[in-house]
Amino acid sequence: MYKTFIKPLFVDVKTFVLDTLFPISCLSCGAEGGFICADCKATMKVLEHQRCIVCQKNTPFGITHPHCQTPHGADGLISFYDYHDEKVSKILIAGKYSFIPMTYEILGQMIAKQLKLQHPDLTSANSYELAYIPLHSTRQRWRGFNQAEVLCQSLSQNLGLACTSVLVRCKVTKTQKDLKKSSRLKNVVGAFALSPRALNHKSEILNHKFLLVDDVTTTGATLQEAAKILKRRGAAKVVCLTVARD
Ligand SMILES: [Zn+2]
Ligand SMILES: [Zn+2]
Repeated sequence: MYKTFIKPLFVDVKTFVLDTLFPISCLSCGAEGGFICADCKATMKVLEHQRCIVCQKNTPFGITHPHCQTPHGADGLISFYDYHDEKVSKILIAGKYSFIPMTYEILGQMIAKQLKLQHPDLTSANSYELAYIPLHSTRQRWRGFNQAEVLCQSLSQNLGLACTSVLVRCKVTKTQKDLKKSSRLKNVVGAFALSPRALNHKSEILNHKFLLVDDVTTTGATLQEAAKILKRRGAAKVVCLTVARD
């Protein structure tokens, strides 16, 4: 009786009370019902071209141009939305600075769908593993979550690929968006290291292929620095994935 009738009723009442007291509204347009409403989901500006992570010029499928590729550089970068679209930046900023990790769960679902359609080679079973750009422990404690990790877990659930913690951030860096292009590279040099788990188990990285996840990229400097750590340890491929490109 409880299970079939009262429990669902209780859940409905609880949801109703919570929705009434704390209505969830779209982080972009304010419409009630979800952190990203259906209308904004459908109209967020999708990027038409992918750019090489090294020279920033257009490249098919986000593949690093052969002449730009270095032994320890990322093999590609795929970004989905245009950060210059106010809707996109509003959602990403509000999710991060208003402490709403669920925003990144939803974004993970959205980009997983697109990735499956556009890049079946990256999403087939046992092909790639997911890794994410870590936050420094002090920043993560302050924010309470790492948006890139939440994204990564959501992608993992939606794509059926494993998500591993292979990197740590060993240096507190300034926020990249506050810096000029020339200072960004310097700012992230030496920012990442292998996690203790990856350090102890060489086989966790050697010959593995990774999709390296972050929320936004501008110059690609952060992703390149993290990719370098994985490549130096013997990763076969590192393809970077971001929700948006600035
Ligand atoms: Zn909206
Ligand atoms: Zn290039």
